[in-house]
Amino acid sequence: MHVDREGALRAAREWDARYAGGGALPPLAGLPVAVKDIICTAGMPTTCGSRILAGWVPPYDATVVSRLKDAGAVIVGKTNLDEFAMGSSTENSGFGPTRNPWDPERVPGGSSGGSAAAVAAGMIPLALGTDTGGSIRQPAGFTSIVGMKPTYGRVSRYGLVAFASSLDQVGPMARTVADAALLLHVIAGRDPKDSTSVDIPVDDYPGTLPRGARGLRIGIAREAFGQGLQGDVGEAVQAAAAHLGGLGAVLTEVSLPSIPYALPTYYLLATSEASANLARYDGVQYGLRVPTDDLFTMYTRTRRQGFGSEVKRRIMLGTYALSAGYYEGFFLKAQRVRTLIRREFLQALDAVDLVLMPVSPTVPFRLGEKVDDPLQMYLADIYTIPVNLAGLPGISVPCGFSNGLPIGLQLIGKPFDEATVLRAAYAYEQDTDWHTRRPPVVGQTHSQAVAEVHKRDRATPRPAPKRGAQTRRRSSRKSKKARTRK
Ligand code: GLN
Repeated sequence: MHVDREGALRAAREWDARYAGGGALPPLAGLPVAVKDIICTAGMPTTCGSRILAGWVPPYDATVVSRLKDAGAVIVGKTNLDEFAMGSSTENSGFGPTRNPWDPERVPGGSSGGSAAAVAAGMIPLALGTDTGGSIRQPAGFTSIVGMKPTYGRVSRYGLVAFASSLDQVGPMARTVADAALLLHVIAGRDPKDSTSVDIPVDDYPGTLPRGARGLRIGIAREAFGQGLQGDVGEAVQAAAAHLGGLGAVLTEVSLPSIPYALPTYYLLATSEASANLARYDGVQYGLRVPTDDLFTMYTRTRRQGFGSEVKRRIMLGTYALSAGYYEGFFLKAQRVRTLIRREFLQALDAVDLVLMPVSPTVPFRLGEKVDDPLQMYLADIYTIPVNLAGLPGISVPCGFSNGLPIGLQLIGKPFDEATVLRAAYAYEQDTDWHTRRPPVVGQTHSQAVAEVHKRDRATPRPAPKRGAQTRRRSSRKSKKARTRK
């Protein structure tokens, strides 16, 4: 979305000079990193994938960004996302969709689809994503890379633009578990600027990786292998579990009966929090302003023009769930169910070290396939959302392909036990070769890749919009144009 060519080259030259001068270097010295465009970067635009923030340049770095810079990373630019991180396909971006490097007619997942696609395509080795309901793990699974959502409180969110504050976490996206461990190690830890970041010591993630999977107790989540799961996805994930068993992990089954309630619970809580968080985009403080004579009309016109339809849908849903008369029945009830879900996970994790399940119920779907059907889109996160509600660490690691499309394995750990999650993922990765496969676009120049996409576009027209769909009845290409109102 934004490439800071000059800044990146300047920083790289400085690290080159320090390298040539000899002496100790910090852990990420000279390594290029891309940052999801919902994390503030001083002097670089931060749009959140929204027209309402087009052109906004934050005056400061998020803590994760300053930690990256302190560790020597070269921030190359910002990556595309669903508007305000609301989505599972990166099609909700106000600046157009991102495509999946494994098949440019398919989505890379979302909302951190830009970071995932950039890492998978070999454009960059490391990227930051954010995960409120699956937005790191699901796109990582869809693009065959490694993505981790840390425990709620593990990583500072100072400078992360808020979507749903009780769920949002920043985390690493990388080609290998070792790279993800290194990146997480750099960004993790208490930050006095974020009172929700926790003062629990950060383990030596890279150092603990080689300990292997022997003796780890892994619970396969029974409810995650039922209806709605694509057959060969389930088989690949079961095969990965068996593989871990072969590496000495002790496999059992665990039950998480509240999993089916996670989706409605999340869509009440996340939308409620979003409706409050997004109240600040009023044409006065940030970004877009549609000037009119009176203040109220200015607010409404700015918000009507600036926000896309998914964001509006969520603001309306959240405002409703929080309104007098409905609060007890919706918001409060959802909070109670959330507590039950968390308790269930913690109980399961009393008996095992890790819970295992798929990342997504399907392989990457086609662009345009679900944009007219929000509920279908929401189902893409059915296995990742419970983990956010419970506040636990979870990782997605490549575990196979179905007709050339990636499948992800999800491992979920105890609070603040990222080390064990990474260690098991590493043991699996090192004994398999899924992570060594590269999508067909790797090695192509940018213009070759673009030419190929255009050729495919001409060969396969978009699916016709479904009749009677609730919103956005246009084809995805047209709706992109509509959203690009200049
Ligand atoms: N896809 C989920 C949503 O649309 C999760 C998004 C996220 O994790 N940021 O809310």
